[in-house]
Amino acid sequence: MHETVVAQNLAEAISQEARAHGGRPVRAKISCGQLNAVNDEVLSFAFEAISQGTPCEGMTLQIEHKPLRATCRQCSNTFAVELSKVLCPSCQSDDFELLPDAPLLLEEIEFEKE
Ligand SMILES: [Zn+2]
Repeated sequence: MHETVVAQNLAEAISQEARAHGGRPVRAKISCGQLNAVNDEVLSFAFEAISQGTPCEGMTLQIEHKPLRATCRQCSNTFAVELSKVLCPSCQSDDFELLPDAPLLLEEIEFEKE
């Protein structure tokens, strides 16, 4: 399952940072796109299970979903694509180019303050 692999990679990356930093991580922020989107609940659950007994145990994951973006070929406007209404918001054209989906990223880790 996609989320389990993501959770494993996150736990490893955060544990490594925690060792380098010498503190206990309390919160991490990650972001993902629409095509490689993760399910928040499934990921949090998988992360909780995987982080048992590691420095990541008990920390909170915050997941930001970034929208798909597109550039309009008519007016060069760049906009977030809503799947319910796929038109350029400034000229109502449906002639646009989809931009690459946002990758899954570990954006920041917050450590416990001493
Ligand atoms: Zn347009």
